[in-house]
Amino acid sequence: MESDHLKRLHRNIEVLKSILTDKEVKKLDFDLLQRVIIRLNSFDCNECGRYLQEIDEHTKMLIEKGNPVDKSDFKEYHKKMSGIISHLEKEHKLVREGYYMSVYMSIGMSIGLVFGLSIFENNIALGLPIGMSIGIAIGSGLDADAKKKGRII
Ligand SMILES: [Zn+2]
Repeated sequence: MESDHLKRLHRNIEVLKSILTDKEVKKLDFDLLQRVIIRLNSFDCNECGRYLQEIDEHTKMLIEKGNPVDKSDFKEYHKKMSGIISHLEKEHKLVREGYYMSVYMSIGMSIGLVFGLSIFENNIALGLPIGMSIGIAIGSGLDADAKKKGRII
């Protein structure tokens, strides 16, 4: 995508930041959106190009409507964003910050639960925290590794 288009997208976001309330800006998480735009633009991928187009149209629509943003607009925006993020995760092997931590913590907790019920003779209070801390250790290691490799969105 040509850089003019990209510049316009970032300008759209700046305009939105100025016309929306702080609460709305926070709800729309423009920092994430800007990072996502940079990512989408960095891949030579048709789908990423299409997503950029969609973001462009959606931000333009929000600007035209002005303040306040409808509930349905927020809903549509978040639906779009989660679609885009899952594309980045699946196709481009990127992850959200803290992704591995949350995944491994819950894996650790369920394993801890099982061990607590079996090996530690019904001692969930022992198994659960052990499983959880192992999960956190593995997850944070993987998060740090993803960060080092520039795979965090
Ligand atoms: Zn893509």
